[in-house]
Amino acid sequence: MTASKRIEEVVDQAEALIDGRLKEMDRTVDHNQWKVIRAFQKYQVSDFHFAGSTGYGYNDRGREVLDLVYAEAFGAEAALVRPHFVSGTHTIGTALFGVLRPGDKLLYITGRPYDTLHKVIGRGKDGSGSLGDWGIAYDEAPLRGDGSPDWDTIREKLTPDTRVVGIQRSRGYDWRPSFTVSQIKEMVDFVKGIRPDVIVFVDNCYGEFTERTEPTEAGVDLMAGSLIKNPGGGIAATGGYIAGRADLVEKAAYRLTAPGIGGEVGAMLGTTRSLFQGFFLAPHLVGQALKGSVFAAAVFERLGFETHPRWEEPRTDLIQAIRFTGEEHLIAFVQGIQKASAVDAHVVPEPWDMPGYEHPVIMAAGTFMQGGSLELSADAPIREPYIGYMQGGLTYSHAKLGVLCALENMAKRGLL
Ligand SMILES: *Cc1c(COP(=O)(O)O)cnc(C)c1O
Repeated sequence: MTASKRIEEVVDQAEALIDGRLKEMDRTVDHNQWKVIRAFQKYQVSDFHFAGSTGYGYNDRGREVLDLVYAEAFGAEAALVRPHFVSGTHTIGTALFGVLRPGDKLLYITGRPYDTLHKVIGRGKDGSGSLGDWGIAYDEAPLRGDGSPDWDTIREKLTPDTRVVGIQRSRGYDWRPSFTVSQIKEMVDFVKGIRPDVIVFVDNCYGEFTERTEPTEAGVDLMAGSLIKNPGGGIAATGGYIAGRADLVEKAAYRLTAPGIGGEVGAMLGTTRSLFQGFFLAPHLVGQALKGSVFAAAVFERLGFETHPRWEEPRTDLIQAIRFTGEEHLIAFVQGIQKASAVDAHVVPEPWDMPGYEHPVIMAAGTFMQGGSLELSADAPIREPYIGYMQGGLTYSHAKLGVLCALENMAKRGLL
């Protein structure tokens, strides 16, 4: 059988296999779509809210209502949704700096956090202005071999100076399960059972709208995410959000701008409409992207590759990890995804030393928003065990075509 005939067959089988699963996902989309619409309705979102402010941005009613709509949809007391956050890392950093003080300890209980956060945490007095440089201690409880939290270690490391417990919902660049909202609730209950006063923070990147509830509805005090991922709906051009307890969101706002002014200022410069519209579209687009991930898992499994999560497993983030046998496979896969793009399909991604990452990374990002990863994209740090991570797709068709182009590219190089 020729490679392209085999690909065609596998794709047909995979689509038949996942049909019921995709229908189930539509019901989650409907649930979340209505939740978002109800939040808009509660605050009577109107055309005049979309006008952006300039200068200080005082009395920007659109910005205030945007915060309220996010808080309502996420079941949180308050939210801070701003185009002034330059990335997810900046948003998470702002939340952490907002609530931690010298002498406090930050304890991550889901193992080593996402690569770009290592420099935010820092290494002691490193002169960079990191948490460590400000005298904030850091510790982590590695996950057990099966990817579950290590309860004994967490209990041991919850010392009196622990002020914030960090949880990363998504796998990031790790071969481990992502944590569902109900698993996050279990962690919150465990930690609060020992230290009710501790602040539980969740890095919610890639998680929004993949389930029917968010971590802030499961007892989490503060969470943060990026607007060029799920909640921006593919429309937000930049930004981030922080949501949770009102007193903590206020502290984060003081860190983003300045103490005393917090979230009361910040010109929206014409971005408000896109942030509202993106949030409205987000449940649907997250659904499209999730379907693409399920399709990719089913296809690669049928071709004999190991995937994480497998197609039929529950999902709580957009990321689909696929384990390849070597660097060439990984590169052919990522370059193939790029070939399906509407934007920049003519360029060939190569591994490079991205700021904030510790290994060379290759990225397929033929996206309308630079680095936007609710859009179809794929990344892989060039390191063993050669795992490719794909996510996103503004349309399910695009995600499917991306997988097809990746397979064809691999077949052309004799790698299938
Ligand atoms: C994307 C991501 C971040 C950081 O976001 P950037 O926008 O790349 O800075 C942090 N944590 C997780 C789990 C992520 O997926």
